Amino acid sequence: SAWLGVMGGGQLGRMFVHAAQKMGFRVAVLEPAADCPAGHAADLLIQGAYDDDEALAQLAQRCAAVTTEFENVPAPSLAFLAERCFVAPAAACVSVAQDRVEEKRFFTDCASESGVLPAPYRVIATAADLDSAPDELFPGILKTARLGYDGKGQVRVRDREQAREALAGMNGVVCVLEKMLPLAYEISVLTARGADGRAVVYPIAENVHRDGILFTTTVPGPNVAPASAERAQQAALTIAARIGYVGVLCIEFFVLQDGSVVVNEMAPRPHNSGHYTIDACVTSQFAQQARAMARLPLGEVRQHSPAVMLNILGDVWFEAGSDTPREPAWDKVLALPGANLHLYGKEEPRRARKMGHVTFIAPTLEQAQANMRQACAILGIDP
Ligand code: ATP
Ligand code: MG
Ligand code: MG
Repeated sequence: SAWLGVMGGGQLGRMFVHAAQKMGFRVAVLEPAADCPAGHAADLLIQGAYDDDEALAQLAQRCAAVTTEFENVPAPSLAFLAERCFVAPAAACVSVAQDRVEEKRFFTDCASESGVLPAPYRVIATAADLDSAPDELFPGILKTARLGYDGKGQVRVRDREQAREALAGMNGVVCVLEKMLPLAYEISVLTARGADGRAVVYPIAENVHRDGILFTTTVPGPNVAPASAERAQQAALTIAARIGYVGVLCIEFFVLQDGSVVVNEMAPRPHNSGHYTIDACVTSQFAQQARAMARLPLGEVRQHSPAVMLNILGDVWFEAGSDTPREPAWDKVLALPGANLHLYGKEEPRRARKMGHVTFIAPTLEQAQANMRQACAILGIDP
C-alpha cells in the first residue's frame, strides 16, 4: 500500500494518521521526540530533527507524498522533500504563513480580488518604527512576526508607551503592531484545494477564544450573518487560489460590529477549529488532506449534524488548589448524547496544554450546545 508522510508528531499529525490509515494508506511521521501523539499511531516514526537531511531523505524515499502538521517546519526542509516526492502544501505557502509580515503583505496584495483586508498594522523592527507608528493603531496588539500561537508572543498595548515596554520584552525580534478591532465575533474558513486547482470550502465555523486559546467552535455559528459568511468563504477560496495552495488551509477572520470582514491569519494545515469535521461532516479535514496529497478527488464537505467542539485543556485534570492531576470524569461526559471524545494520548497534563477535544453533535444546534454546557459542568470548566 502507498505511504504518506507527515512532518510533526502532534495531535494534528495523529488525527491525520488515523484518517489516512482508514483509507488504506500507511503513514510515516518525522518528529524529533520519541514519545509523541502521532508517533504512537503511525506505521513508522522517523525520529529526527525537522532539518535533518538524512531523516528527510528517508521520509521522501518511503512516501509518495508528504505534508506538515506543524506550521513552523523549516520551509527549506519542505523544498528539500519536494525534490524527492510530492509535497503539499508547498514550501512557499508554508513560509508565508510562518511570518505575519509576509502573511499580511500577501493578504493585502490579494485584497482587490478577495475583498478583505487585514487589520491596520505596521511592521515594528525597531523602537524608531514604534515612534513613527500612526496614533490610530492604539490601542493595539504587538505580535511577534514569527512563532506565536495560542496568543503567545503577543501583548495588548493601550498606548505607545506600553508598546515601547512590550517591544523591549520581545528580545529584538521583528513584530507587527495591529490595531485592536471591535470584534463582533470570530470565524474561520476551512478550505481544501487539489493539485488540479479544484477547491472545496467547508461551512463557516464560529470560534470563541479564551486567554488566546480556542475554547469552542460552533457550526453553524449562532452569530454568523450569511453575507459575512459568504464573503469570508469567497475570500478564502481566492486567497488559496492566489497562492497556488494544495491541501487543507484554514483562514481566520474577524467580523466587526458593522458586519465587515477582516482577515487575521492562516494556518497551512488542518486546524483546531476544523476538528468538528471529523464527527459532523461527510469528509473530515484530515481525510481531505490525505485525498489532496494522494491527488485523489476531494471529498464532500457537507455537514450532516450541527456541532459544538469543546477543547479539553490540561486544566481539567486539576482540582482547584491541587497540583496532582486526576483523570477527569470521562464516563459522565460520554453519557451525554452525541458526545465524541478525542484524547491525543499525551501522558502529562499541563495547564493550557491541548489534551483533547469533545465534539457534540445533535439534531439541533441548541441540543448540541446544551450538551456542551453539561460537559463543562462535569469537567469544572466555566461555560
Ligand atoms: P493561533 O493559536 O490561532 O495561531 P495566534 O497566537 O497566532 O493564535 P492571533 O490569532 O493573531 O494569535 O490572535 C489571537 C486572538 O487574539 C484572536 O483570535 C482574537 O481573539 C484576538 N485578536 C488578535 N488580533 C486582534 C485584533 N487586531 N483586534 C482584536 N482582537 C484580536
Ligand atoms: Mg496563529
Ligand atoms: Mg489565531
